[in-house]
Amino acid sequence: MIPEAADAILLRSMPRSVLVLGSTGSVGRQTLDVLEGLSATHQVIGLSAATSAAQLSAQAQRWSPEFVCLAGDGPAPDLPSRCQLFRGPDGLVELVEAAQADVVVCAITGAAGLPSTLAAAETETVLAIANKESLVLAGHLLKDATARSGATIVPVDSEHSAIYQCLHGRRKDVRRLILTASGGPFRGYDTERLKSVTLAQALRHPSWDMGPRITVDSATLMNKALEVVEACILFDVTVDDIHVVVHPQSVIHSMVEYIDGAVLAQLSSPDMRLPIRFALGHPHRVPTPAEPVDFTAFSGLTFEEPDRETFPLLALGEQVARQGGLAGTVFNAANEVAVDAFLKERIPFSDIPVLVGAACANTPAQDAPDLATILSTDAAVRRQTQALLPQPTP
Ligand code: MG
Repeated sequence: MIPEAADAILLRSMPRSVLVLGSTGSVGRQTLDVLEGLSATHQVIGLSAATSAAQLSAQAQRWSPEFVCLAGDGPAPDLPSRCQLFRGPDGLVELVEAAQADVVVCAITGAAGLPSTLAAAETETVLAIANKESLVLAGHLLKDATARSGATIVPVDSEHSAIYQCLHGRRKDVRRLILTASGGPFRGYDTERLKSVTLAQALRHPSWDMGPRITVDSATLMNKALEVVEACILFDVTVDDIHVVVHPQSVIHSMVEYIDGAVLAQLSSPDMRLPIRFALGHPHRVPTPAEPVDFTAFSGLTFEEPDRETFPLLALGEQVARQGGLAGTVFNAANEVAVDAFLKERIPFSDIPVLVGAACANTPAQDAPDLATILSTDAAVRRQTQALLPQPTP
């Protein structure tokens, strides 16, 4: 084994406080799982959940954080006496400000994660962003905030973590970023066949184990569309610098091609704990207890063009990335409502892109919107999209 790096020794000498926003969701739970093995270097200072009060109390009993927030309604969670409790959506921002954590893991799903992510960007922290919506809705505000505070954004989205690792701080001489996509459970389907797919089929992702919303987003390619916008913001590139390629095995998590034709890729098993571990340790590498990659176990790595005709949200997302302004807010808000309706079996799968397309056709023109405008647009698009849903029979 290679001798322990000086970096790793340094990391151990300075324990880091970690705030996990969205600790009961899929990325939040996996973050705590990684932190189980990092007790010598990391300490949980705060946790938050939307509605899972019982799970939040169990996590608080285990980690004994100083601060906890339950953002949704419902009875207060049962907490150890040292925990200070915050309530409501404003409580999330108060939690961020009180914790002043060294690392903030932004793992709330959807636009609901925006105000707390922005608040975290105002503190000098490592901002481990899994909440891609905050970049899609308010990338410019997030960047302004980090420039003021000195916060460092480290992406937790596996594709963006891969690109971040391949760039290694170097933006020079890059020809293009190659964003890989699994293709989701309906890869190879045509428009006609998509009309009859079921919720259960959409929730069965071939390679990743994720929450329901993002699993459906992977099936429509909406997730990849959001990731294109996310990559433009994170890496200061335009959509023309990004090439999406379908790679069903999800072993290569994304690539960077340099001007001399060299392509660097980051490979590993599809496991979110790797990008989470990378962000928690940043800028140091933290050892994993997992087995080394067995390349002989791979049955082959294949690549194909995405089908933009059958999955129109990808092309729409590329258009959104070009448009900027409020386009990301409209695109995401309509999708959140449509996916929620699909998860409740109120609309068929094939209606999701129709509803999102309708909302995007009415995007108000505005460059560099402020937070209030973003949030009011988000609310208006949600109402308009709700009104287009079939009404439940009384
Ligand atoms: Mg991803």
